Amino acid sequence: MANNRDDFSLATKELLANRVGRKCSNPSCRKLTCGANTDPDKITNIGVASHICAAAKGDPRYDESMTTEERKSFDNGIWLCQSCSKLIDTDTARYTKEVLLRWKKIAEELAILEVEMVSPTQSFEEDKDLIKFFVQCFDRPAFQDDISQEGRMEDFDKAIEDTLVALNTGVLRTRDGAILKQAEGKSAVHNPSWREKLDTIADMLNSIRRRLKIAEAEKAYTKYGSGQDVFYCFSDSELGEWFNLTREEILKVLSSICREAGLRELHFPRRRYRW
Ligand SMILES: [Zn+2]
Repeated sequence: MANNRDDFSLATKELLANRVGRKCSNPSCRKLTCGANTDPDKITNIGVASHICAAAKGDPRYDESMTTEERKSFDNGIWLCQSCSKLIDTDTARYTKEVLLRWKKIAEELAILEVEMVSPTQSFEEDKDLIKFFVQCFDRPAFQDDISQEGRMEDFDKAIEDTLVALNTGVLRTRDGAILKQAEGKSAVHNPSWREKLDTIADMLNSIRRRLKIAEAEKAYTKYGSGQDVFYCFSDSELGEWFNLTREEILKVLSSICREAGLRELHFPRRRYRW
């Protein structure tokens, strides 16, 4: 950049620097370009607002067709460290306008992603709160009673469905449809291993609902008693046991998350021999 004919304004330079978090926009450099100077009133800045298409004729990537305003505009600038600013002018065949625009776009995206990123401590606490809510959702008779002791199968199915909705959306509905508690769904969990386990739990809940529908259609169980004292006998005892084992497995997976999060665990069944 031989002369400053079409140099950027201070405001444009600041905009270029701040939109990339004051880091060099070269994706393989990413150097922070400013910091504290020994003089308490000053900053040390090694960042440069470089021209993508040169500010003066004869300089790298100069584009005759551009107006002065275009050459001075934000769109024609890229924030780089001093060394990368030199680098891009040494080989214009390699560091083309297209390459530099791509660097700029990537650097801007990275900067906003870094702003959005939460700290590991914060994300652990957020996850813990969400898991605590999910544990509450599973703390209901549908996950505590042996299948033979479930009150009404319709209620059992509804309870499984409500739990599934709570897991997916963070909204737990009571039997009359009122919203009991609002949180976020499992997709908001930061810890990828916990998120995967919650997905597995959701899959198992779905399969409980599917097998329940089939069992009902095929009349795979007989109902005894009435009112509160209803219990079920499965003609296929393995199927009855499957409902128990699947729920036990669900609570085991959930408990493995609870142990890591330092939360109380749930176990199935708590009241197997109630009657
Ligand atoms: Zn650099």
